[in-house]
Parts: sequence; structure tokens; C-alpha cells
Amino acid sequence: MAVLPILITGDPVLHSVAAPVTDFGEQLATLVDDMFETMAAAPGVGLAAPQVGVSLRLFVWNWTDDDNQLQRGVAINPELWISPTPTGEADDEEESEGCLSIPGERFPLRRSELAILEATDLSGEQFEIRASGWLARIFQHEFDHLNGVLYADRLDHTHAKGVAKAIKHNSWGVPGEKWMPGVDHPED
Ligand code: ZN
Repeated sequence: MAVLPILITGDPVLHSVAAPVTDFGEQLATLVDDMFETMAAAPGVGLAAPQVGVSLRLFVWNWTDDDNQLQRGVAINPELWISPTPTGEADDEEESEGCLSIPGERFPLRRSELAILEATDLSGEQFEIRASGWLARIFQHEFDHLNGVLYADRLDHTHAKGVAKAIKHNSWGVPGEKWMPGVDHPED
């Protein structure tokens, strides 16, 4: 297993639609192992393959819910159904979201309360998870990555300006910028 560098916004891989996984061989298993290790080192609650420079449709998550239950898994070639996105302004405390590809920043964003994830696991088995709350948010965030969409692309006008400023301030927004979990500590 290995910790992989995480691409920062501006790299074309993060802003492109990823391709379906067709080969469920050893290489895929290694990638998934590495993604779990990278996510743990970051640390983060979700990580999509494009974030480590692999333009394939899969993501991992690892999050302990309010009932202290560990929610953890890998979704390959996922589909996602969501309830209507609530209207109104996002709450700064309750709805602030971050992304390992825009490290150290958080901005509030409205997300659907419910999501149904249908995907394939590493052995090629189909599964379905009905998620609500923060897990539903993680699924929406990671699923977006597979379509080249970052949460920054979904922010309302005020917060979009804020994230643009942060990107400029850090000299991000250009191809090839990355950071190394366990070595760099942008989330501190
Ligand atoms: Zn992200």
C-alpha cells in the first residue's frame, strides 16, 4: 500500500468526466488500497480516483456517523439518486464542506438530505446504500468528482468569490499542483 499525492484544483483530471471501470483485476484492488491509505493519511472522509490522478469512476469513503457507526466502503461505477436540493442559504456551521483538492478551505453548500447510491464493489457485486445527512453529502461530493465537478463549482455567488480568492492566494488553479498526505499538512 502507498499514500498517493492528491491533485489540487486546476489540474485537468479534476475537471474532466472520468471513464467507467472495466478491469476488476489486481491493479484496481491496489488502487483502492492506496486510496484508503491516502484518505486516512490526509485525513479525509472521502476520496475519488480523479483526486489521485486516475480518471476512473470510483470513490472511497470512511466516516463515523452520529451513532458512532463506522461507514466505510468503495463505490465503483456508481449511480446516485438524490432528493431535491433544499432552497435558501446554507448554514455556515452545519453545512460547511471541504475538499482534499482545495485543502484547508471550507465553504457552506446546500446538499440533498437523501441519496441512494448504487454501485459495484471490488469483487464486481452490485450493492445499494440509502444514505441521509452527512453520508448523503459525502456521496454527492464524491460522485461529483467523477463528473469533473468540485464543490467550489456549486457554491453561491458570495462563497464562489471566497473560494476563487483562496485559490488565487495559494497560486492554485493551474495544472500539476499537488500535496502529499502525511508530509504536507494543509488541513492544519
Ligand atoms: Zn473533494
